[in-house]
Amino acid sequence: MRRIYLDHTATTPLDPRVMEAMRPCFSGTFGNASSIHAYGREARETLERARGIIAEAIGAESAEVFFTSGGTESDNLAITGVMSAVRGRNGLVTSSSEHHAVLDPCMHLAESGKDVSFLPVESSGAVDMDAVRAHVGDGTALVSIMHANNETGTITDIPAISAIVRGAGALFHTDAVQSAGKIPVNVRDMGVDLMTLSAHKMHGPKGIGALFVRRGVPVDPLLRGGGQERGRRPGTENVPLAVGFAEAFRLALGEIQEESSRLRSLRDALEQRLRVLFPAIIVNGDGALRLPHILNVSFGAADYPLEGEMLVMNMDLEGIAVTSGSACTSGSLEPSHVIRAMGRDENTAKATLRFSFGRSNTMDDVDYVAERLDIVVRRMLKKPSR
Ligand code: PLP
Repeated sequence: MRRIYLDHTATTPLDPRVMEAMRPCFSGTFGNASSIHAYGREARETLERARGIIAEAIGAESAEVFFTSGGTESDNLAITGVMSAVRGRNGLVTSSSEHHAVLDPCMHLAESGKDVSFLPVESSGAVDMDAVRAHVGDGTALVSIMHANNETGTITDIPAISAIVRGAGALFHTDAVQSAGKIPVNVRDMGVDLMTLSAHKMHGPKGIGALFVRRGVPVDPLLRGGGQERGRRPGTENVPLAVGFAEAFRLALGEIQEESSRLRSLRDALEQRLRVLFPAIIVNGDGALRLPHILNVSFGAADYPLEGEMLVMNMDLEGIAVTSGSACTSGSLEPSHVIRAMGRDENTAKATLRFSFGRSNTMDDVDYVAERLDIVVRRMLKKPSR
């Protein structure tokens, strides 16, 4: 059976070139980067080369890049670490459409007495700028707003928020897990103090990410142990994965223009096909700037009373991997908090499908997916085939 992977926001396959770059680290360069002998020094050099590549990719200095185990840890370190280290300010501002790796530590801090605001988003998914102005003030320690949303691809105007945050003397963290490698993520141009990255969304290995921390920004560590990563992230450094991360980022930047426009044309073609097949669908994120590779649609509940999870399962039977955005929590299907935050009702939010394209997808995949989705929807709605 033909198989098509359209869930690149969840994770991406490892690029074979990344595998080749990592291979020597599993045998020759196996030393502990903190050891002072030749094996250790070789591992250290390799690690620092990788750090340098990542720093350059985001316009930072090497000393401002800290390796972590991934996006979740970087988000937690940024939020919990800054809120613990900053004195005299108790406020934390975020948005209601963040990834759970941001929302959950924020909720945890709210429970432990921090003054946390979850800002509303507009129907396009863009954060409400009036709410940013209203909530960011001289009691705010940190603002954490994602660069691009993982469900809809909606891109936030980070420099505009930065101007407000800077004006209030607060610190600014952004989660750039989905945008890095797809659109420029220069920390100086964006005006951020902290930025989260993850390798496995850009055809790199799982289990490694980084946190950019601007020089001088206070961040308490989550872990205590050895002094690795200048005390911010103790634990023996993962040299092979750091090398893979750097190579994945380097490759992504080398082809960012061509690949982004290629992905955009696939995404737009599928969007056009779906609008013709299902005239009542809602394209979530329509009207906002969006990442090139994500298409998120809701089947209007009245016209297409469908469950996203059922659509996902039926598409899976056709060999096509997509996702619905709803999370299975204790056996019950929760509609996506992102789509709900954009003002959609519960049934519409539940009838949502997300397609996310990557390096291996072609226009032929678009034709096949549109054709199979039409068959699946008609079958589910018990309508005759066309
Ligand atoms: N932030 C965003 C926006 C994401 O999409 C993800 C992964 O889905 C994460 C954070 C978590 O990253 P990781 O899987 O590397 O922990």
